[in-house]
Amino acid sequence: MKQFTVTGGTQLRCKSWRQEALLRLLENVLAVGEAPEKLIVYAAMGKAARDWASHDAIVDALKTMTDDYTLIVQSGKPIGLLKTHAQAPLVIMANCNMVGQWAKAEIFYELEKKGLICWGGLTAGDWQYIGSQGVIQGTYEIFSRIAEQSFNHDLRGRFILTAGLGGMGGAQPLAGTMAGAAILCVEAQKDSLQKRLDIGYLQRHTDNLDEALQWIQAAVAAREPLSVGLLGNAAEVYPELVRRNITPDIVTDQTSAHDLVYGYIPKNLSMEEIRRLREHDHAALMAASLDSIRGHVSAMLAFKERGAVVFDNGNLIRTHAFNAGVKEAFDIPIFTEAFLRPLFCRAVGPFRWVALSNDPQDIAVIDDYILQRFHDNAIVTNWIRTARDKIPFEGLPARIAWLGHLDRTALAVAVNGMVAEGRLKAPVAFTRDHLDAGAMAHPNIMTENMRDGSDAVADWPLINAMVNCASGADLVAIHSGGGGYSGYMTSAGVTVVADGTPEAERRLTLSLTNDTGLGVMRYADAGYPEALDEAVQKGLHYIRLN
Ligand code: NAD
Repeated sequence: MKQFTVTGGTQLRCKSWRQEALLRLLENVLAVGEAPEKLIVYAAMGKAARDWASHDAIVDALKTMTDDYTLIVQSGKPIGLLKTHAQAPLVIMANCNMVGQWAKAEIFYELEKKGLICWGGLTAGDWQYIGSQGVIQGTYEIFSRIAEQSFNHDLRGRFILTAGLGGMGGAQPLAGTMAGAAILCVEAQKDSLQKRLDIGYLQRHTDNLDEALQWIQAAVAAREPLSVGLLGNAAEVYPELVRRNITPDIVTDQTSAHDLVYGYIPKNLSMEEIRRLREHDHAALMAASLDSIRGHVSAMLAFKERGAVVFDNGNLIRTHAFNAGVKEAFDIPIFTEAFLRPLFCRAVGPFRWVALSNDPQDIAVIDDYILQRFHDNAIVTNWIRTARDKIPFEGLPARIAWLGHLDRTALAVAVNGMVAEGRLKAPVAFTRDHLDAGAMAHPNIMTENMRDGSDAVADWPLINAMVNCASGADLVAIHSGGGGYSGYMTSAGVTVVADGTPEAERRLTLSLTNDTGLGVMRYADAGYPEALDEAVQKGLHYIRLN
């Protein structure tokens, strides 16, 4: 059986650290992925490479290529090496981009079956996923903003209801207890639930709703944090809570509702029947999923009506519910607009770094530096202290922090210096989520209700990727949605390696500064005052016409 392990240390298998870093990141997304034997990293179908032959050819190319070539990857398949130059990206990729009128789930499934396309998720296909930490931080940030806005900065004694304990959703119980709440997570599959118990993200589990509610109510009364996994279907449990007149304080959902065939699990069907329909009858399965989502979202609306803070956590559940006839579905706000947009206006977003040494001490050294250098940034210092105390590393040790324009550059350049001085055992890779200021167009998630109405304009992520190529980043990717996300989004990813050289300092400075600079300009162009202010404060050459 294939082993999915990470490589650390200082022994190179490639011609330089730049290629070695990308190879280690590819190994890492599989090591921390949900079903690595199928190359699946998360979100039901988000893959690291098209198939095993493609994977092996990518590994061969990374091991043999020199710095003056660029490897071209199309939907997870390596196409060739082109002669460029040592300041050009080592890898550029375009994953899952379909022409407008064709960008539909059914066409994606056909192309996927023929082996012509694969979905890279956001950070799976471009080898940037760092395990659950990234999403824990995002979810924790959302809960913190809700605490600030609605609960006097304190979620102790509060009840959060959610569903889905998969690759990303599995972060919710830990983020909930970190924020001090009692959180009930409904999960339809025992394996997913067990995985979160095994890694310590989830504290208790049951298949009995009454027992789950007793535990939650006791924790709420004692103002103790608690996470409970309930084996069940959210399309049954949410309406049952409405029927019993139980209203949580906060409600969301992170089932893979975006994909009606391979993600969402409709009620009243066995997994055996679902697998049969996945093979033979997509239309019937889509209809069953839509029917369940109708009840699921109607219950969320009822909770909202009764006073709960209800939000969509970025899984298209409102979109499907709306299409299935729930006309008020969009009364539920999207988390980006409700809680995070002021941060994105200043290009503050999910920035990450990975210790290629595989030594947690390297992350500890960087944590210490951040606590000192960004001591007046409460979001960052609060997170670094909490994360170092509560989050176990998965795969290569990594850290995430919501840093913004120029701060990301300052950190990366400082770390490059630490590598050069030998204060870190090996180089460090810097990257970020695609859900970042200039990097994503997603009218039902990232760019919903933009101030100027530019929700569906996908020029920004394309410009973002070109800017990162022009700035000499090590890996640049353009992704669009696959499966149920087909036609809903386009985004860009970037990775830059701090190997301690002056060339790396130049790449980091240009790429990270331009990446966030473009993000501020995107929001300034949409008329957000925070972004206009940031552009002035940071001396950006933004050309203001309107
Ligand atoms: P996943 O496929 O790994 O896990 C989904 C889980 O939901 C599975 O364990 C499945 O059993 C469970 N599930 C499906 N239908 C259910 C139902 N009706 N009731 C109870 N459980 C059910 O997916 P993931 O990586 O955890 O991502 C989940 C969703 O969140 C995806 O749509 C993903 O795109 C989205 N996502 C959003 C953000 C964000 O922007 N905040 C970040 C990451 C992921």
